[in-house]
Amino acid sequence: MDKDRIYLSLSKESGFEQEYIQKALNSNWITSGGPNVNEFENELQSYFGKESYVAALNSGTSAIHLALILSGVKDGDEVICQSMTFSASANPILYQNAIPVFVDSEHETWNICPENLEIAIKDRILKGKKPKAIIAVHLYGTPYKVDEVHAIAEKYEIPIIEDSAEALGSRYRGKKCGDFGTFGIISFNGNKIITTSSGGVLIVNSREEKEKAIFYATQSKDKAVHYQHSELGYNYRMSNICAGIGLGQLKILEENILARRSNHLFYKEIFKGIKNAKLFDNVNEDFFSNYWLNTIVLETKVERENLRIAFENANIESRPLWKPMHLQPLFEKYPYYGNKVAENLFQKGLCLPSGSNLTNKDKIRIKEVIHNFFI
Ligand SMILES: *Cc1c(COP(=O)(O)O)cnc(C)c1O
Repeated sequence: MDKDRIYLSLSKESGFEQEYIQKALNSNWITSGGPNVNEFENELQSYFGKESYVAALNSGTSAIHLALILSGVKDGDEVICQSMTFSASANPILYQNAIPVFVDSEHETWNICPENLEIAIKDRILKGKKPKAIIAVHLYGTPYKVDEVHAIAEKYEIPIIEDSAEALGSRYRGKKCGDFGTFGIISFNGNKIITTSSGGVLIVNSREEKEKAIFYATQSKDKAVHYQHSELGYNYRMSNICAGIGLGQLKILEENILARRSNHLFYKEIFKGIKNAKLFDNVNEDFFSNYWLNTIVLETKVERENLRIAFENANIESRPLWKPMHLQPLFEKYPYYGNKVAENLFQKGLCLPSGSNLTNKDKIRIKEVIHNFFI
């Protein structure tokens, strides 16, 4: 294969990262926590507004785990989780020895279905346990039905952990994703909208919760001159080097969102005339996606697989949509509420290359594969 591989989603350097990394090296802050970490948190706090407090961690997964701990989730508790997502949304439920209860998606946003969510909550209460938390996901950058989902959570007084790993820069009714829940999380893994190489943040609503999150993330050290521990701790704090990369990356956040949204327009133009594939689009103006990934739904699984292979033959990466958690060997024994919305999407759906760094040349190659396949 002579042509360079086109990936689904790659990070892009801003050029400012090196300066922050060098500062960390020069000042000997080559550890977890430190000035870059504080500055990174402050910048994100001003991005989200004054009611938001941000704790920088070593991954989005750690952020979800700490959100569960702060929600008081313990052994044997039940936690509701959107089934159609990446396993990192659900794994931390098992870290707590808690029980995941999976809920299907709805057709418009592909995220947690409000009707099935309420059915699940009522049934779990009837069976003797009120769920301790709800994990809702803004999949591929598209906000879930925030008003409906949060109204249900409020009615039953259950905290929401908003998995905004893929949705930095997305908005619902003008308000930024990551900032709706009792807890919000964002990932800065290498494939996300911006990266710290590996990292994440937990967004909370008070200084006390932020301090508690950092306490757990730094081995739960009690106030004492010696090492004293009365609670279980974790090594989850973001490193000062990673935060330096994050500070450099924040400078191109808006640029990356624009690039991803322009990828969406590129695909919109291509799929306009193709009947056998439907490009995912936001239903109305309440939903503003960063279009982290562009996705299509084909008519059959066979067709989806054939298109995926056609891309592969051109050295272009594409992938089926997330396989729902209730179908995963690890999770299939846990309760599930829904129909077959997520299952159907998984069968027929495909993620398309959507990186912030897609070039015009890349786009020509992608377009050629699609045209040859459909026309
Ligand atoms: C990437 C991702 C995570 C996990 O983030 P990491 O930083 O990789 O731990 C969680 N949820 C979703 C939906 C993700 O896409």
